[in-house]
Amino acid sequence: MNDRVDTNTLKYNIEKIKEGIQEHKKVQDDVDIVVVTKYVGSDVIRNLYDLGWRKFGENRTEDLLKKQEELADINDDIEWHFIGRLQTRPVRKMINQITVLHSLDRLSLAKEVNKRADKPISCFLQINISGEEQKAGFQPNETLDIVEKLEAYRNIHIDGLMTMAPHDAKPEELRYYFSKMKQLQVNVQNLKLSYAPCMELSMGMSDDFTIAVEEGATLVRIGRAVYKD
Ligand SMILES: *Cc1c(COP(=O)(O)O)cnc(C)c1O
Repeated sequence: MNDRVDTNTLKYNIEKIKEGIQEHKKVQDDVDIVVVTKYVGSDVIRNLYDLGWRKFGENRTEDLLKKQEELADINDDIEWHFIGRLQTRPVRKMINQITVLHSLDRLSLAKEVNKRADKPISCFLQINISGEEQKAGFQPNETLDIVEKLEAYRNIHIDGLMTMAPHDAKPEELRYYFSKMKQLQVNVQNLKLSYAPCMELSMGMSDDFTIAVEEGATLVRIGRAVYKD
């Protein structure tokens, strides 16, 4: 945990990220930033909050719950986005504490979320767009089938798709994967299912967000670029 990121650094870095988004995004579309806070403690999150940020990304249940406790006085005003691999066991204690689940990556998880949620949860289907073996997510060609299967789960609302590009991909490969994600999103939208409007596309991290935005990301998840000196 890094608790020594000063306010000016945060301000400067976020301004640069916003400029990058403005420069690369297609006209009219809004692109939101989820500031990934898995690297920092509650003090830095409080700092980000004071700078006006409200959407924070965490990837571990224990860290999420601890930070929510430490930020209890402002927690109602924060949108927590869960972006990490989620086992079924902790779902019960965290699913009603988050705003968006970016990492719905298998049907057994959907079943558990559906069972434990008090109300419909905003979920993004995680897609393994590059087909890497060690990566979580649904295969691109099973996406539509999965969306249709999820109709059975009343507490799952499919608001978008999410992906992580391979670490070592070249710019033209990134563009290819991100554009495939955009196409998948359109295909889901064309199903016109009330529980799956799929208006969001969560893709792009510190090293690849400008390309993701060019290809239609509506939400980028940025960590390292926010904290770097
Ligand atoms: C850590 C993480 C990010 C942020 O990555 P950076 O390279 O630090 O910007 C985004 N998405 C997921 C799923 C992550 O685990």
